[in-house]
Amino acid sequence: TSSTYNFKDYIRVISDFPQPGIRFKDITTLLKDGDVYRAAIEQMRAAVEHLKIDVVAGPEARGFVVGAPLALALGVGFAPIRKSGKLPGATITASYDLEYGKDQLAMHTDSISPGQRVLIADDLLATGGTIATSINLIKQLGGEVAGAAFLIELAYLTGRSKLDGVDIFSLMTYE
Ligand code: IMP
Repeated sequence: TSSTYNFKDYIRVISDFPQPGIRFKDITTLLKDGDVYRAAIEQMRAAVEHLKIDVVAGPEARGFVVGAPLALALGVGFAPIRKSGKLPGATITASYDLEYGKDQLAMHTDSISPGQRVLIADDLLATGGTIATSINLIKQLGGEVAGAAFLIELAYLTGRSKLDGVDIFSLMTYE
């Protein structure tokens, strides 16, 4: 019904943000169009349907914008992955490197049950550091990382190689 969009037409590339040399992929120009946003989530849902997901997990903040609607489309719940110090309950943490920066991620200890099949969702796969750390957290909780889904993959940063054995779907790829 919906899937004839060229999604890259809706991504705005901003040079030298947040640092010189970075060509930032801005997804807000896709999100503001309800039809395109819905079509993007629907394509991601269709691509991961076969993975039999029990719960979607996504890192703040743009992982919420992708992961929460994807969870609803799949008919499952959502587990937030946040910067440490933000979640109010008992948490586990793991530290990570970004394409530009460093931080620590946390999850509630009860956000995933042992044996659940988890899909990680985020806006963009760059070096893979964020997702590798998310995998670490999910495994600490006994979850099974069944797949990872992104709006955008920056293939030249080879993040995919950090996610060995994980089924990866990217709606758009930049070479
Ligand atoms: P990684 O950990 O290096 O894979 O970086 C991925 C994380 O950095 C994601 O959570 C993205 O939101 C963010 N990120 C890195 N580069 C970009 C970009 O060009 N546009 C939007 N987000 C980015």
